[in-house]
Amino acid sequence: MYQNGKKKIKWFLLIAGLTLVVFSIPELFGRNTGNSKSLGSVRDGQLENGYLLPYHGANFCYFSPMSYYLLDNAYTHSNVYHTILEAYRTCEETCPDIRFRLMELSHKTGGQMLIHRTHQNGLSADFMVPKKRGKSQSRFYDKLGLWHYLLEFTETGALTFDRSVTIDFETMGKHILALDQAAQENGLRIKKVLLRIELKDDFYQTESGQQVKQKGIYFAQSMSGWTNRVHDDHYHVDFEFRN
Ligand SMILES: [Zn+2]
Repeated sequence: MYQNGKKKIKWFLLIAGLTLVVFSIPELFGRNTGNSKSLGSVRDGQLENGYLLPYHGANFCYFSPMSYYLLDNAYTHSNVYHTILEAYRTCEETCPDIRFRLMELSHKTGGQMLIHRTHQNGLSADFMVPKKRGKSQSRFYDKLGLWHYLLEFTETGALTFDRSVTIDFETMGKHILALDQAAQENGLRIKKVLLRIELKDDFYQTESGQQVKQKGIYFAQSMSGWTNRVHDDHYHVDFEFRN
């Protein structure tokens, strides 16, 4: 009886492992080639020939293996792909000690995703807020995977259950400036940034936040209750094509 149970567990693990491998084949062996095509809008759209971001880079890492390999949510438009990677390269110079985390982008073929109302046509990206404890970066809570979306911050940017950890608004601003620059070089512009409304004054108080404001990079002015509440652990960026 006991032997039988053990055998069943082994079979279960084998099948689960094989399923994981099969689901991950596009991420493990896929190639980015040609140009992507965004159809429709961020709320009702599709993505053709989406580009997959690398899981790791010199100063960044994707936040969840499940989102990456199983849900196929690390795909984006080719121009956004180049924009994101170039911006991280800029950050190697402008904030050399920071390791960033990239959160969800779009599904391989676009369309509806589990926890997002937008992100449908490969022109939206979520970036995890960089955090600090005192003067140094705090990466402890960066490792929560999809659970990171559930973290809550106070109106001044402190993590609710560990207030010694706060959002590093200065680094966030430097990253947004780098994105803005890279977007321009790739035929795009930042259409809008979503950050919880109550956090914006703290963001704009930093040097880089001031520059973001001076450049006229648009931050949402108001958001409905739920949408506002969830944009504290990450900032969402929508890109659009420059004509
Ligand atoms: Zn988003």
